[in-house]
Amino acid sequence: MDFELSDVQEQYLKSLRELCRAEILPHTRAIENDVEILQRNLKRLGDFGLSSLVYPEKYGGSDADAITNTLAWLELAQTCPSTFLSMGASTGLCGYTIFKLGTEEQKEKYLKPVARAEMIGALALTEPSVGSDLAAAKTKAIRDGDYYILNGSKMFITNGPIADCVVVLAVTGEKGGAHRMSLFIVDKDCPGWSSGPPLDKMGVRGSPTSALYFDECRVPAENLLGKEYEGFYRVMECLTFFRIGMACFSLGIAKASLTEAIKYAVQREAFGTAIYNHQDVSFRLAEVKTEIDAAEMLILQAAWQFQLGNDATREASMAKLLASEVGKRAADVAVQVHGGYGYISDYRVEQLYRDARLGEIGEGVSEVQRMLIARSLLLD
Ligand SMILES: Cc1cc2nc3c(=O)[nH]c(=O)nc-3n(C[C@H](O)[C@H](O)[C@H](O)COP(=O)(O)OP(=O)(O)OC[C@H]3O[C@@H](n4cnc5c(N)ncnc54)[C@H](O)[C@@H]3O)c2cc1C
Repeated sequence: MDFELSDVQEQYLKSLRELCRAEILPHTRAIENDVEILQRNLKRLGDFGLSSLVYPEKYGGSDADAITNTLAWLELAQTCPSTFLSMGASTGLCGYTIFKLGTEEQKEKYLKPVARAEMIGALALTEPSVGSDLAAAKTKAIRDGDYYILNGSKMFITNGPIADCVVVLAVTGEKGGAHRMSLFIVDKDCPGWSSGPPLDKMGVRGSPTSALYFDECRVPAENLLGKEYEGFYRVMECLTFFRIGMACFSLGIAKASLTEAIKYAVQREAFGTAIYNHQDVSFRLAEVKTEIDAAEMLILQAAWQFQLGNDATREASMAKLLASEVGKRAADVAVQVHGGYGYISDYRVEQLYRDARLGEIGEGVSEVQRMLIARSLLLD
């Protein structure tokens, strides 16, 4: 593995860090109650080229390698997990699925504007009664001439309330099952779909999540994404890309938590000395740093495999599994180091602690990651 960056890559990451610190970090608390801040952030990052970084130039991207993209993701994730999640759902889930499976016309119409953040995308797999076991999904798409008619509902969809287009997984025909499912790009203009109100969440409150409802929703047949009946298998392959993203989400939270904890521990005094000088505090921070570096190596390994064009399913799952635990532990330690102040919303660690919990749930719960890793062991 070779993670050495060129001067151009270093310069890009430095500029991104400056942008994140100057324009996004100051609003990480306010974003929880103001979706316009999120929309402004997404547009700014689109203009900066972050959301299109890995896509080819002909789709408005920079053709960047997966390592640079991963390091850029980490920069944003440690600045604002909510913005990162929404950008990732738009370009890393919706955009990437269109990039891998779409026709040139679909890429022109949807990928380009999604990559530039002129359109906000979403990926709708989960349903009210089905999440981990997606093969049991029930949303239906029945062909009717030049259209498919979609009926059903989706749940917990990131960007649901603000999406301009949504990639939807639906059973094509009357019978269900993984081998009967297809993907559709449902445009804002398609009649018959609506979003529920933003769900009142524990964390990442700046990233709106909602149910989506499809009621006799008419989708042009040309919006079928990929081949009919192959949707389930193809979308599972596409998820690997942003599974590395969700690992970055958690690691970003871990890094931010450690920074906050160190800052506080060197200035807060107890028993006549900075609390950092109490071995129990500094040793906990030493352990967090060790775990952060271990998770970062797994993430870079996954990105490296991805970059080589190899199947990175196992590496992405391992990276997400470990990073999500490290993110949760790091935020927990940071709250503890802050004592009572850690429990108060004036301090960033209170928010990071709430945000961190999503890491073990979003884009496949940790149990599913263990299942994928265990399955892969039998193929070695
Ligand atoms: C903030 C947020 C944003 C999200 N964004 C999106 C999105 O953009 N698009 C989308 O499609 N979905 C999204 N989701 C949904 C998310 O992917 C699902 O919540 C997740 O996959 C789990 O599905 P579930 O909630 O139905 O849990 P279930 O599948 O019902 O699982 C519940 C629990 O059962 C246990 N369990 C389940 N299966 C197994 C097993 N095989 N072995 C052992 N234990 C098991 C686990 O403990 C698991 O946590 C989002 C969720 C949240 C909270």
